[in-house]
Amino acid sequence: MKGTEWDVIIVGAGPTGGRAATHLSSLGHRVLMLEEHSEIGRPFQCAGLVTPKALHEVGLYDSILEEVDGARIHGPSGTLVPVGTDGKLRTYVVCRKKFDQGVVQQAMEAGATLWLNSQPLSADSSDEHVSIEVNKNGVKCNLTTKLLIGCDGAHSWTRRYFKMGRPKEMMIGFQAEVLGYEGNSRWLDMYSGSEISPGFFAWVIPSGFGSHRIGVWSTPERLNGRSVEQCYDDLRSHPLWKDRFTNTKEIARFCGPIPSGMVRKTVTNRVMLLGDAAGMAKPTTGGGIGPGFKQIKGILQPLSEAITTDKLTEKSLKKITTKHFTAMKKDQDKARALRNLLVSDVPDKELDAHFTNFAKPEVLQLINEIGDIEKPVPLGLALLKKVPAFRKLALKAGTRLLFR
Ligand SMILES: Cc1cc2nc3c(=O)[nH]c(=O)nc-3n(C[C@H](O)[C@H](O)[C@H](O)COP(=O)(O)OP(=O)(O)OC[C@H]3O[C@@H](n4cnc5c(N)ncnc54)[C@H](O)[C@@H]3O)c2cc1C
Repeated sequence: MKGTEWDVIIVGAGPTGGRAATHLSSLGHRVLMLEEHSEIGRPFQCAGLVTPKALHEVGLYDSILEEVDGARIHGPSGTLVPVGTDGKLRTYVVCRKKFDQGVVQQAMEAGATLWLNSQPLSADSSDEHVSIEVNKNGVKCNLTTKLLIGCDGAHSWTRRYFKMGRPKEMMIGFQAEVLGYEGNSRWLDMYSGSEISPGFFAWVIPSGFGSHRIGVWSTPERLNGRSVEQCYDDLRSHPLWKDRFTNTKEIARFCGPIPSGMVRKTVTNRVMLLGDAAGMAKPTTGGGIGPGFKQIKGILQPLSEAITTDKLTEKSLKKITTKHFTAMKKDQDKARALRNLLVSDVPDKELDAHFTNFAKPEVLQLINEIGDIEKPVPLGLALLKKVPAFRKLALKAGTRLLFR
């Protein structure tokens, strides 16, 4: 093989691209990662929550900034629902720069090549290969690959270039890193209500060395002309919680999109989308690292065989991906339907009533037993089935979607 011919070219060396490159290189394929920035993991737009499952998969323990045992969730009028148990770890907070760099380093150790300051300019997919024109450090070069994988994030060039659809929802997230927030050690805070995070929630996450990440997210339709920064300001000055923010000092600000809702076409001839590029972030938490990892892991063996035998037509790729991707999409759709039903499409007064129910000891016990950030659907369904106050919602839910 020449230096211009690859088995797999991955556009984007974020966590999904790095993970896909590690898997495919480990299986003996020649993999090139193209990253448009001069450094991995910068700029980052992330709260840094990584589930134990995703973290254990890569073993990047030196990227951990904090361990989190639970969340203090606040209803619009202040009802507190603490979910979690002291000493029982629920999730990790990582340094995204270290985490992303670690994931990409693993790919290189497995044999993948990384080009920084590089991005595709055009591509053409034929029966033989995909030919790509790449800008590498300002110099144009032509490459060919058997398979092109777009792991290039929320605004994916690959997705747009090959007209593969759009994520169902594109949430907008805003986050500030602050010093001096009055929180509880090993617990994160979540705040709800139409003023501060319409349809969603605001978060305050301990991020090590006395700092916290304060964030809000919502959809443009729900924001109705307001900006997420305004929501953030409203959280900081909210009569119920402003005391917690009085002594905070901002040290950084970030804003970014969160694509959730798998795109119409995840594959086309010799092209595939993974991670944020495919719209994989969770509708309930916005987490996209775990789903990106899961998406590639579930198709690895058949994909590797298809690369080896060069069977990478749209039909072949669909055969490889349909079962796994459809199951992930169904889960995402259910989680979104439950989120809308219980939180997002609910006026504050009704949300307050839900919080009163969530805070009842027997419901809290259920939440703590079944609640899992990775799998919100079983908890949502259990709440609808087992909590009398929520039963009438189950009917309203359009049971076809939730219980099919
Ligand atoms: C405010 C906020 C908070 C979040 N908090 C969390 C959280 O706590 N936990 C969590 O799991 N997720 C969180 N997310 C989502 C998370 O950041 C993403 O889901 C995750 O980074 C997706 O990984 P990825 O590799 O698919 O895409 P990305 O991380 O976006 O990586 C894409 C890579 O591709 C590169 N790239 C893009 N275009 C090109 C191109 N044309 N050519 C070459 N390279 C290109 C980019 O530079 C980048 O390195 C949050 C998002 C936001 C906005």
